[in-house]
Amino acid sequence: MRCPYCGSNETQVKDSRPSEDNSAIRRRRVCGDCGGRFTTFERVQLRELTVIKKTGRRVPFDRDKLVRSLQIALRKRSVEPERVERMVSGLVRRLENMGESEIASSAIGHLVMEALKTLDDVAYVRFASVYKNFREAKDFEALLGELSGDDDLAGDAGADSGAEAVED
Ligand SMILES: [Zn+2]
Repeated sequence: MRCPYCGSNETQVKDSRPSEDNSAIRRRRVCGDCGGRFTTFERVQLRELTVIKKTGRRVPFDRDKLVRSLQIALRKRSVEPERVERMVSGLVRRLENMGESEIASSAIGHLVMEALKTLDDVAYVRFASVYKNFREAKDFEALLGELSGDDDLAGDAGADSGAEAVED
């Protein structure tokens, strides 16, 4: 496994253990050249998934990218990283079980929104505001209306949602 910091191939596994829900093996690695430490996960992949972008372009499904976009939407929210991991694993299994190897990015966005809605209201609005590409304030208000009042929604929702990362 190549070092993400310096690009060296001289990395060693220091520690290896199952993730909390036993769906992955987590390995702590250290680089012999720069001393950088990083973690890798080994997971079951039932099916190779390809994402079809709005533009029609096809790219391999990237789990890490999905995690990053969720982390942006969930920034400063108190959601356990383990819950996010489980949510992503669940999403990926659902995608794999759709029976299609090619999946529209919009279908993925829809699943993500569904999952976020149960996980965290604020993250849901952040994600949805970019994903749904709200053009009018009333769209946004309608969505807020679906949720119970939450004071910190208005200030930072939308500006930095992870939804772009899913699409781009
Ligand atoms: Zn290195």
